[in-house]
Amino acid sequence: MAKLHFHFSVMNAGKTTQLLQVRYNYIENGGLVMLFTSALDDRAGAGKVSSRIGLSADAIPLRHSDDLAAMVREVHAKTPVTVVLIDEVQFMTPEHIWQAARIVDELHIPVMAYGLKNNVFGELFSPAISTLLALAEDIKEIKQLCHCGRKATMILRYDPDGTAVKTGQVVEIGGESRYISVCRPHWVSGDIGAARRATLPAKIACDAA
Ligand SMILES: [Zn+2]
Repeated sequence: MAKLHFHFSVMNAGKTTQLLQVRYNYIENGGLVMLFTSALDDRAGAGKVSSRIGLSADAIPLRHSDDLAAMVREVHAKTPVTVVLIDEVQFMTPEHIWQAARIVDELHIPVMAYGLKNNVFGELFSPAISTLLALAEDIKEIKQLCHCGRKATMILRYDPDGTAVKTGQVVEIGGESRYISVCRPHWVSGDIGAARRATLPAKIACDAA
């Protein structure tokens, strides 16, 4: 039976790498894969999904007004679609998630959505994520570790000095923010860890008395 899957993680846990591996496996077995990503996230170029280790694939950029179910239904009517993969699902809308559920229930095609569960404020990332948590039959975590060795469950945003930033917008476009995934205690204390601190530009001593 086809299911709606949600594979969630914190940042830099390799979820796009996993998605691309799944895509490759389906294609190798002769499957037809429809891969979607958010039209909002064009870091890799519009309509492209790419992972930090260098893998990439073309994807259909999904805009808020697009009907995911209609797009899949149109292709499926000509050539049967084996699986629908969605990257960056946190940028979708609750309507997209209900459309994904219809793809599963009416077309019997599995939908595997990958994305962030939490935002930098320690809340569910978006209404799409709460809808997906409510509707998905299969929810899996792609795990990542904090610099202390505990499981990383939170995303910490920090400024160029390494100071935690817990105000502002969920998604900063063109800002100077950086992100690291950490455990809850280190999110609370705002500690990015020694390895990340070592990558910061040397601080200019401006507080010398
Ligand atoms: Zn930690």
